[in-house]
Amino acid sequence: MFYNFPINYEQPLFRPPSEADSLILQVTFGCTWNKCAFCEMYNMKQFQIKKEEDVLREIEAVAKIEPGVRKVFLADGNPMALSTKRLLTILEAINKAFPRVRRISTYALPRDIIAKSPEELIALKAAGLKMIYVGIESGDDEVLTLMNKGETYETTVTGLLKAKAAGIKLSVIILNGVGGLKYSHQHAANSARILNEIQPEFASVLVLSFPYGVERYQTKFGGEYVEMTIHDILKEMEVFISHTELEGTIFRSNHASNYLVLSGVLGKDKANFLELISFAINNPELAGLRHEWQRGL
Ligand code: SF4
Repeated sequence: MFYNFPINYEQPLFRPPSEADSLILQVTFGCTWNKCAFCEMYNMKQFQIKKEEDVLREIEAVAKIEPGVRKVFLADGNPMALSTKRLLTILEAINKAFPRVRRISTYALPRDIIAKSPEELIALKAAGLKMIYVGIESGDDEVLTLMNKGETYETTVTGLLKAKAAGIKLSVIILNGVGGLKYSHQHAANSARILNEIQPEFASVLVLSFPYGVERYQTKFGGEYVEMTIHDILKEMEVFISHTELEGTIFRSNHASNYLVLSGVLGKDKANFLELISFAINNPELAGLRHEWQRGL
């Protein structure tokens, strides 16, 4: 974005696809949990809090060359683990440095939201924290336990509804295929059920991938993971979408991992999505599926 950019990023650095044009500000390093069976994001990083003076200095340095920043994303894994006092100091510095900023967002874990009082969440929202991204992954408690997410259906709903009550928008992620064939139906049905209860503003579905091989995930998943074909993945998607009862959630399955791209609003586009999925299941060669060579049809 900038020549001689004045932020000293500690790699690897992750952000949601929709934050591609945001200023990414690292306020923590890694993830406090770092134990989800499918996640390799911060394996090489120990969770650390970035020094406040370093964060504030970087905000001021960016403001000198780009004062017109409109969107800021706080990284890494879960900056909501920071104290509210620390977060408010950072949010206030962002607002002061970038007068045109209109959205500040971050990743969050339900437990870190639950740990904050309603008043603290309202204060964070008032200071500009408009949206949080939460990897729900699954609404099924058995699958959540096997993947070692450290959250349950109940904690996820409690945390996310608490943020919602403070006016913070929710963008949530479900992981297609994360329970394998054995748990596919309950994972899909309960993932729809949790979204129905939360009614997030945004939801996306990614497909589980295995950067270090399927065996590694099988071991971490208690040896219970049964690999899925593209057909199985699409069938799971069909069950998931058919169980959704959403009122106005912007929905996407357009990540690089997705075989079938869906984009629209649920429930308005539910019937259309189900038609597209059904066509892809019955006509995989004609459906324009992406990277189908990676799994058997
Ligand atoms: S909480 Fe998020 S970042 Fe941390 S290990 Fe799990 S998926 Fe990865």
